[in-house]
Amino acid sequence: MGNRFQVKDRFADGAQYIDGRLRPGTSGRSHTVVDPATGEEVLTYELAGPADVDEAVAAAKRAFPAWSAATPGERSDALHRLAAVLAEQAEDFAYAESLQCGKPLKLTTGFDVPGTIDNTAFFAGAARHLQGQAAGEYSGDHTSYVRREAIGVVGSIAPWNYPLQMAAWKILPAVAAGNTIVLKPAELTPLTSLMFAQAAQEAGIPDGVINIVTGAGRDAGEHLVGHPDVVMTSFTGSTAVGKRVAEIATATVKRLHLELGGKAPFVVFDDADVEAAAHGAIAASLINTGQDCTAATRAYVQRPLYEAFTARVAELMETVRLGDPFAPTTDLGPLVSHAQRDRVAAFVDRARAYATVVTGGEIPGGDLAEGAYYRPTLITGAAQDSEVVQSEIFGPVLVALPFDTDDEGLALANDTPYGLAASAWTRDLYRAGRATRELKAGCVWVNDHIPIISEMPHGGYKASGFGKDMSSYSFEEYTQVKHVMYDNTAVAAKDWHRTIFGDR
Ligand code: NAD
Repeated sequence: MGNRFQVKDRFADGAQYIDGRLRPGTSGRSHTVVDPATGEEVLTYELAGPADVDEAVAAAKRAFPAWSAATPGERSDALHRLAAVLAEQAEDFAYAESLQCGKPLKLTTGFDVPGTIDNTAFFAGAARHLQGQAAGEYSGDHTSYVRREAIGVVGSIAPWNYPLQMAAWKILPAVAAGNTIVLKPAELTPLTSLMFAQAAQEAGIPDGVINIVTGAGRDAGEHLVGHPDVVMTSFTGSTAVGKRVAEIATATVKRLHLELGGKAPFVVFDDADVEAAAHGAIAASLINTGQDCTAATRAYVQRPLYEAFTARVAELMETVRLGDPFAPTTDLGPLVSHAQRDRVAAFVDRARAYATVVTGGEIPGGDLAEGAYYRPTLITGAAQDSEVVQSEIFGPVLVALPFDTDDEGLALANDTPYGLAASAWTRDLYRAGRATRELKAGCVWVNDHIPIISEMPHGGYKASGFGKDMSSYSFEEYTQVKHVMYDNTAVAAKDWHRTIFGDR
C-alpha cells in the first residue's frame, strides 16, 4: 500500500466535523486512538461535549429545509458523486480503517471499503425511488394520497467494529430520504466517519447535512439522544447501552431504531457437507476477529457429524495466520483494543471451569506481544445455559454443541435473548425450509453465513433490536408518511356535518 497519509496532519484542526469544517471538541477531555496491532498512538484528539453536539444539531437543523426540498434526482446525483469520491480514495479509507481497528488490509480492501461504495451507489439509486401508496377516492367524496416525507435532524450513534460501514449505514438512508444527520462514532474509531463526511463535502453535499461529533457515550451520546431538535435516534451497539438509549429517546418522544447485539447460531444438520460447514464456520466466526454482530458464535451440530466437524474446525483454526494487518499474508488481526482482548480472554478463562478449550484460548507472545491479539478459539462441552453460550463475547471464539433431533437443534438455536442472524447447513430442501421459517432472526442463511448485500435489509429480532439498516426497508425508519385528503364535492354543508348540525 503506497498511500499512507499522515493521520495527525489530516486531523490537525480537530476531530469534530460540524457544518463542513473540522474543529476540536470542547469537552475538556481528550482521547487517544491507538493502533491495536502495535499499541502505538495514532491520534490524540479533543472529545466532543454537549456544547459541540448543540452546534452540530443547530447546523443540521439549518441545513434541513434546503436539503429536504432538493429533488430526489439532485440528492441522487450528489450520492453518485460521493460513491465516485469514495472509490478514488479507497486506499486511504482502507488504510485508516485498518489502522484504527487492526483489521487486515485484505478485509478492509475486500469488504469494508467496497461494501461502503456499493451501499452509497445503492442509496444514490434508491433516493429516486421513495414511494407513497397509490392515490384514490376511498370515501367517494374525497381523493386521498400518501406523501412520504423526510423527518428532520437524525441523531445516530455507532460502534467501533465496522466504523466506516456503520457510518455509511446510518448516513446514507437518512440523507437519501432528505434528512440531515449528526453521527457520533465510537471514541476508539472516529477516523473513517470523519473522512466519509469530508468526502461528502467534496461530492457537493451541502455543509451541515452531515455532521460528526465524537465524544463519550454518557456525555455527547446521551446529549444527542435527548436533544429536543433531534427527531430520531438510530443506535447500533450493545443491548445494554441500547436500553439506556431507548429510555432517553422515549422520554423525549423520538423515533427509535436499535441495532443491538447478536449471538448467531450455526446449525449443522446430519446431511450437511462437513467440509463446507467447517470452512464456513471458520470464516463466519473469525471475520473481523469475531467482532461482528452476525458472526457465527454457537455451532449446533447433529450428533453423527459432531466429531468430524469439531476436529476439522480445530484443524483449520490452527492454520489461520495472525499478524500485521498490513501484511498480505495476514488472515486475522488483533482485537480493536487491549481492553477488548482482555474481556475476551476472561470469558475463555472462566469457561475452562465448565468446558473444554479445544484450541486457542491464548494471548500470543513473540512479535505479537505488544498488540491486542488473541488466538482463534474453539470451545466444546459447555452447557446451553453457560455464559459462553448465552453472552456476546465479541472475539474469535466459537462454541460447538451437539444435538440429536431437528426439533432440539432449532430450539437450542433460538434459546438466547438475541435474534440478529442464524444459518442452517443442510442439503435437504425441506429441512432448510423449516429452519428458515423457525429460526428467530432478522437474517437466515442456508449453507452460508455472513454475506450481506445493499439491496436486502439488516436488523434484529428479540433483544437484537428493531428497525432495518440497508435496502429500501430502511426508508421506513427515515421517513414519515402523511395522509393528504382533498374534498371533491365543493359543497358547504357536507353530508357528514350532520354529526354537528343534526337535521338542520
Ligand atoms: P457500545 O454499546 O458500548 O457503544 C456503541 C456506541 O454507543 C458508542 O459510540 C458509544 O460511545 C455509545 N454509547 C455508550 N454509552 C452510551 C450512552 N449511555 N448513551 C449514548 N451512547 C452511548 O458498543 P460497542 O462496544 O462500541 O460495539 C459492540 C456492540 O455493538 C456489540 O454488542 C455488537 O453486537 C453491536 N453491534 C450491533 C450491530 C447490529 O447491526 N445489530 C452492528 C455492529 C455492532
